[in-house]
Amino acid sequence: MTHPDWPPRENVDLTERTTLGLPARAEWFVRVSHREALIRALEWAAQHDLETLVLGGGSNVVLDTFQPGLVIEMAIMGRRWSDVSEDRAVLELGAGENWHASVLYSVSAGYRGLENLALIPGTVGAAPIQNIGAYGVELSDVLVSVSVLDRHSGQVRVLGPDECAFAYRDSVFKREPGRYVVLDVRLALSRSRPVNLSYRELADWLDGRQPETLRAADVAEAVSQIRRRKLPDPALLPNAGSFFKNPVISRDTFERLSAEHPDMPAHEVEDGIKVAAGWLIDQSGWKGHREAHVGVHSRQALVLVHHGQGNARELLDLAARIRDDVFSRYGIELEIEPRIYPMALRDGW
Ligand code: FAD
Ligand code: NAP
Repeated sequence: MTHPDWPPRENVDLTERTTLGLPARAEWFVRVSHREALIRALEWAAQHDLETLVLGGGSNVVLDTFQPGLVIEMAIMGRRWSDVSEDRAVLELGAGENWHASVLYSVSAGYRGLENLALIPGTVGAAPIQNIGAYGVELSDVLVSVSVLDRHSGQVRVLGPDECAFAYRDSVFKREPGRYVVLDVRLALSRSRPVNLSYRELADWLDGRQPETLRAADVAEAVSQIRRRKLPDPALLPNAGSFFKNPVISRDTFERLSAEHPDMPAHEVEDGIKVAAGWLIDQSGWKGHREAHVGVHSRQALVLVHHGQGNARELLDLAARIRDDVFSRYGIELEIEPRIYPMALRDGW
């Protein structure tokens, strides 16, 4: 059944609107497909003294059974090319556009830049929130600017990469939650930039192919095949992708740990050594662990899964036991990657 986008509807089921499929209802719900509708929804929430939550594809959230206030589903669409030269172009995408469809759109037009980020679920508007990344590329590598509604001033602002303060799975949008609503995103693409095969698994998959002969579409297809082989499809086994961030530890801590665990995978990053949270969880014996309704994926220990009939509290309880176990073994504190709502459910994280 389709519903009109206005007025907001009361007591709406959100279960199918998140990839974890945990039971959740919104006190109020509205879908916004243009800027004026977003502003009207925010004003309505303010008039009724309601908190708000902007939801994209629901692939990076854990929602409790009741979501108080107004849930705003982002559906501002649109694709536009600008600054087109022989080699380069800027692709402007509305926040409600599907991310993977946008990747396919750009690579089929012959542009490179987004191919390593193929098959990441969710919307364009959520991509800057955690600076999505995969296979050696992050959104910040191609981002020109983000248009936002700044709820402090009520103004639309255009933020460049510096103002977005991007870091590993982090940004100003995460550090100042609720302040900005992303309206659209502009990305710098190029026909000639070299493909990025820095990620070993991707290079191995394309073994024997000369990088200069690879089209962006070939890389996107390789990334998609690797991902399909390894990651559970949320439509078949509900999940929110990586449940924990890969921790970045100091060199001293790393040297101490790697003396004890010489096979611990690690990668040097700007502010320290990034270790694989999935490896820590696997070594602690949790891979494939199953409880009544929730568990740990059997092929990738970083992914917690929902087997059905579970709820957010059961999942977070499992996550807390995994975190505590990893800490007791390695002295490394794991941090949850998906956003948890409402705030009260975040206690202890
Ligand atoms: P939602 O889950 O709807 O929202 C996430 C957060 O963003 C919430 O805080 C929400 O309030 C906020 N938000 C959403 N839209 C807006 C907006 N327009 N303005 C302001 N705030 C907004 N992530 C990666 O980085 N790399 C991966 O490789 C990756 N792989 C994944 C694989 C699977 C199988 C799954 C299920 C998830 C994966 N993820 C990955 C996580 C997730 O897909 C991304 O974080 C994605 O960007 C979330 O998009 P969404 O639209 O579903 O966001
Ligand atoms: P993986 O290949 O098993 O690697 C484990 C971890 O080691 C990765 O998380 C990755 O960190 C790091 N790593 C591997 N090679 C690296 C390199 N050359 N340089 C720097 N770091 C390297 O990882 P996976 O689980 O199959 O995931 C593959 C890619 O998809 C990763 O980039 C991962 O982040 C991304 N992914 C993300 C999510 C999510 O929800 N956030 C879900 C699925 C997949 P990085 O994470 O920094 O790359």
